[in-house]
Amino acid sequence: MTDCIFCKIITGQIPSDKIFDDDQVVVFRDIRPKAKVHLLIVAKEHINNLFEAKPLHEKLLSHMLLVAPMVAKQEGLHNGFRTVINTGAGGGQEIDHIHFHVLGGGGLPRF
Ligand code: 5GP
Ligand code: ZN
Repeated sequence: MTDCIFCKIITGQIPSDKIFDDDQVVVFRDIRPKAKVHLLIVAKEHINNLFEAKPLHEKLLSHMLLVAPMVAKQEGLHNGFRTVINTGAGGGQEIDHIHFHVLGGGGLPRF
């Protein structure tokens, strides 16, 4: 996806404040944080969103969920965190490349 911001971050064409990287995901800080800590867990494979996810992505999606508590702890969110996945325009998705938000550390409104 040549015009995808997150694909460009993954390849290093656009800089990011990266805190974790493995064979399946990259995790970096959101450029406009909505909480004291706001991380984005981004799949290295370009999948638009959950609507486009297939059974073959099961391992990737569960890996992304397991990365969430790991990076949350790494960032000091021992008390807990919120995960958000926006899907499509109706879900308020801005970047069409699958990612999970991890938020915490204060500044979170009640949901
Ligand atoms: P969405 O609304 O698609 O679930 O979330 C996209 C998130 O990506 C937003 O919270 C937005 O602040 C963040 N974002 C957009 N462009 C960039 C960027 O270039 N770098 C980083 N680090 N975050 C971005
Ligand atoms: Zn992409």
